[in-house]
Amino acid sequence: MGIEEKLPSGVLLSTVEGLAGWMRKSSVWPATFGLACCAIEMMSFGAPRHDSSRFGMEVFRASPRQADLMIVAGRVSQKMAPVLRQIYDQMPNPKWVLSMGVCASSGGMFNNYAIVQGVDHVVPVDIYLPGCPPRPEMLIDAILKLHDKIQHTKLGAHRIAAEDEAESLALTA
Ligand code: SF4
Repeated sequence: MGIEEKLPSGVLLSTVEGLAGWMRKSSVWPATFGLACCAIEMMSFGAPRHDSSRFGMEVFRASPRQADLMIVAGRVSQKMAPVLRQIYDQMPNPKWVLSMGVCASSGGMFNNYAIVQGVDHVVPVDIYLPGCPPRPEMLIDAILKLHDKIQHTKLGAHRIAAEDEAESLALTA
């Protein structure tokens, strides 16, 4: 007989890592950071109709020190890139980046000298969301996929990988 069968009903077994992953994914707080038209859809995600608080995300934080998710919503201008990077550096580990819309992910229609051709040239990206603009439902879908990734990331693994990538990006910038 396995140990699960000996336990009274109502008792759950897990690991510290499993519990930490569940808590992390259930309380992701995004930084207040919108760059262009995609940000309007991101704001709609936070409004009552789509209700981001269902996912433990009711607060968009004005301070990067209190945020662990950066939603890059809109095209990134060359002038904004160092600011974006600074905000990312100010966020505590572990932290995640969601690239929202084609402009943030690849420059989109703005194939010119003024726009960064993909925010992954500036910060490591965990999940890309296509669309112009992606609807709030698509953002919810991307966030649920990110939750899955967060929940199944081993303790410490994300931080080490992100730091390595961040260092190499800083070296090539
Ligand atoms: Fe605007 Fe479309 Fe670019 Fe989003 S992807 S910032 S909606 S042009």
